[in-house]
Amino acid sequence: MDIEKELNEELAKSLRKVGEVWAPWRSAYISGPKKDGECVFCAKVKAPSGSDRENLLLERGKRCFVCMNTYPYTPGHVLILPYSHVETLDELDEETYAEFFALLKKWQAIVKKSVGAGGLNIGINMGKIAGAGIAEHLHMHIVPRYFGDTNFITTCADTRVVSKSLFDIYDLYLSNINSKEEK
Ligand SMILES: [Zn+2]
Repeated sequence: MDIEKELNEELAKSLRKVGEVWAPWRSAYISGPKKDGECVFCAKVKAPSGSDRENLLLERGKRCFVCMNTYPYTPGHVLILPYSHVETLDELDEETYAEFFALLKKWQAIVKKSVGAGGLNIGINMGKIAGAGIAEHLHMHIVPRYFGDTNFITTCADTRVVSKSLFDIYDLYLSNINSKEEK
């Protein structure tokens, strides 16, 4: 499986370059909100669906959406978000809450299958003090873990190493979601 090999090589490269302690729930977006003050997550949704690939937006649901993390902790890092720009889980209405977790169930399977992860870290940083990079827009992380990454390490300090294959992984995810839906 070529992509698996590629991911492992990438991971090995990033491991060589970083030396901090793995901080699982650190900021998703180191750079924070966009300069004009617009929420980067809301901006992805507002953009025309024709630019979904460019925005790494994987799925538009009824009330929630799924995208890739532009600054992944590990290759294949995915985020699940409500369309509504809210900070906490209890602000979600029942339908949104249900879809949020339905998408989690669906996407943890797609992620695991697509990138050959040995395991996953799944979680939410609710609030700045809990490490949320963009605390004002709730998001859940699905972080693939790979054998050999147990000492890992930061938010991939050298993001270039990882971002090179962001679109490859995006395409892989889409092909797997489509093949699943055809069944
Ligand atoms: Zn937002």
